[in-house]
Amino acid sequence: MHELPVIEKILKVVLAHAAKHRVRKVLAIYLDVGELSDLEEQWMQHYFDHLSKGSRAEKARLVIERIPARLYCAQCGETFSFTTTPDESNACPVCAGCDCQLIAGQGYFVKNLEVI
Ligand SMILES: [Zn+2]
Repeated sequence: MHELPVIEKILKVVLAHAAKHRVRKVLAIYLDVGELSDLEEQWMQHYFDHLSKGSRAEKARLVIERIPARLYCAQCGETFSFTTTPDESNACPVCAGCDCQLIAGQGYFVKNLEVI
């Protein structure tokens, strides 16, 4: 279950923030999760509920936004959507270059917190 270590890290970040800003309770955690990431929302919430018990973030809601995958072409500077269909290439639509890197759509990050 790869959601578990991810949630551990997120909770650590959230609690550190809560302690620093003297937050009484964390109500919601807004997360950006890349489209290519295989994190599953229901498991994330499940592990979160489990790990956050007794902490300031107990019962906080995870609000997850899926971020579409995008590529950046190092040759012409174009950014374009990443396609997950195996028979379509992810070459640049402008210059057909293949020197492209993923700039969005992977991993996750904590975007915002709702606290009291
Ligand atoms: Zn290009």
